[in-house]
Amino acid sequence: MRVLLVEDDEPVAQSLRRGLKRYGFEVEWVSTGEAALRHEGPYEVVLLDLGLPDTDGLDVCRALRERGDVPIIVISARSEETDRVVGLELGADDYVSKPFGVREVIARIRAVMRRVQPRTAAGGTPEAGPDRYGTRLTIDRKAARVRLDGEEVALAPKEYDLLAFLTEEPGALMSREQIMEAVWDANWFGPTKTLDVHVAALRRKLAGAITIEAVRGVGFRLEIAEGGDATGGGDSS
Ligand code: CA
Repeated sequence: MRVLLVEDDEPVAQSLRRGLKRYGFEVEWVSTGEAALRHEGPYEVVLLDLGLPDTDGLDVCRALRERGDVPIIVISARSEETDRVVGLELGADDYVSKPFGVREVIARIRAVMRRVQPRTAAGGTPEAGPDRYGTRLTIDRKAARVRLDGEEVALAPKEYDLLAFLTEEPGALMSREQIMEAVWDANWFGPTKTLDVHVAALRRKLAGAITIEAVRGVGFRLEIAEGGDATGGGDSS
């Protein structure tokens, strides 16, 4: 899915762009309202900052809406209720206040896309479901099914739960305690060897699509492998 990101704050834009890319989105980034309106697309959704250097984001929102019905999610540091209301009145589909996490933005994008692409009555296309991670991995969270290059991967229930948890925020370091609590039991006091066993199984079954790095004394970090090949340069070992 292609996202037009309209944001003049470079650190915010870069981190959002990185985060969205990890989840398989393509991001076109512009930093002015004028560039947003000049952009010819195609894109499926717009993330629109209100505080732009050249124009008010609300004017950009109105202009985009006059042109068509592309979903618009306003992202703004302005938390005032009036902006939210005006944004929605001008045709924005949703509103996210800064600061926000990538996960929250992705959840909003998915929710908005579900609303604007009502399921076709004829059979219901399966493409409404699965989340894409990079080019090879998809997770259908409703059906609890994982596919690698289109082929279903047989995972044990806890392997699936672990993968579902770690892919909620690729790149984030999760402590063993956080993982045990989320995937096994909130009151787990036993050894966490079982976690290592499950991590090893995921590494083996999803080799090439993800990496799960062990961070000594802390926990694990899942990354989505870029593309199909193992180029991964720029690592400071
Ligand atoms: Ca701004």
